[in-house]
Amino acid sequence: MARLGIYPGTFDPITKGHQDIIYSSLNVVDKLIIAVADDIPKTPIFSLEEREAMVRNDIERMKLTDRVEVSSFKGLLVDFAKSQGASVIIRGLRAVSDYEYEIQLAAMNKRLNDDIQTILLPASDQHQFLASRLVKEVARLGGDISPMVSSYVAEKLKAYYKA
Ligand code: ADP
Repeated sequence: MARLGIYPGTFDPITKGHQDIIYSSLNVVDKLIIAVADDIPKTPIFSLEEREAMVRNDIERMKLTDRVEVSSFKGLLVDFAKSQGASVIIRGLRAVSDYEYEIQLAAMNKRLNDDIQTILLPASDQHQFLASRLVKEVARLGGDISPMVSSYVAEKLKAYYKA
């Protein structure tokens, strides 16, 4: 049976670090659903629809549409994963900063549904220190974000901070 994975996140916006995790995950799962979170504690600058559209655009440019779907979800991730028939949750792990949070999240999701396995994939060397939060900060201050996000996302960020 094909192994289906879910890669959840805020994606505010999707960066090249997220892209690396998507590529790596396809060595582990046959199909991937990128699940853009609606119900989140942080306040995103982009709406759910905008965040989803940026992910979709990047997946098309990466030519991964035959193996990767984009969706949004509300509520508990494990419930969404189960409803999709996914057996794996994919998360990315950057150097020290993500470790504690990601391990806590994996343990909580395991407690909520023991049939779904979290797999933490290491960030690539190149994008180890890349975070959506920092990309937004650089864009806000007028810096060059083109090495960090797709050109589509770069345009959206520029437009947001110009407005
Ligand atoms: P969330 O709010 O759920 O953490 P994010 O969009 O910030 O959503 O991140 C989604 C996932 O992608 C997280 O597991 C995060 O650690 C991972 N991630 C984000 N940026 C990178 C990066 N540069 N390299 C590897 N993983 C990353």
